[in-house]
Amino acid sequence: MLKIEKFVVNPLQENSFVISDETGECIFVDPGFYFEVEHDEVRDYISDNHLKPVMIANTHCHFDHIMGVEFIRKEYDVPFYAHPDDAFWVEKALEQGQMFGFAMAQVDAPDFFFKMAEPLKFGNTELEIIHVPGHSPGHVVFYSKKENVLIAGDVLFHGSIGRTDLPGGNHQALVSGIKNKLFALPDETHVFCGHGPETTIGFEKTSNPFLM
Ligand SMILES: [Zn+2]
Repeated sequence: MLKIEKFVVNPLQENSFVISDETGECIFVDPGFYFEVEHDEVRDYISDNHLKPVMIANTHCHFDHIMGVEFIRKEYDVPFYAHPDDAFWVEKALEQGQMFGFAMAQVDAPDFFFKMAEPLKFGNTELEIIHVPGHSPGHVVFYSKKENVLIAGDVLFHGSIGRTDLPGGNHQALVSGIKNKLFALPDETHVFCGHGPETTIGFEKTSNPFLM
């Protein structure tokens, strides 16, 4: 049984997740922890629940999703995984952050790239990794058929979709990726987004104005 804890962090109100299963192992998805109080909050959550962090797995590497990567790396000595096509975003993070008015520390390159043919594994859990470019070229989503859960990053939001005006963005690719890959999942799939509230595939299929 997966437990998905959401932390709404940094001034961009990004959703960072700690995902654990019954073994106590956990992964960090899109750690955007920025303020000291956010560091304390996640630290307390890990220790109160006796969790064992094993990796950082990012849906994509825009600066608001990686602001907490170095903190998590240092705190828990875990490797950072991402898709190779988003590695350039890690290099650009400082500059991009500055454009939005943030002082953030340099984030080192991912330790490993996802092997797309293989699931993401921790504890007793396997998550399917699905490449859905368009918001960023190396954007992936994590899916558990067994748990009926999709971690969608900035691909799909409640009533909206990710912006495509940043470098490497592609509106056409994003829309077709959502329609062909995500809308192929069961309607009742619970979707956790990179910003804002949760939704379901069925709800977005019938009401998302960007996908009509
Ligand atoms: Zn993004």
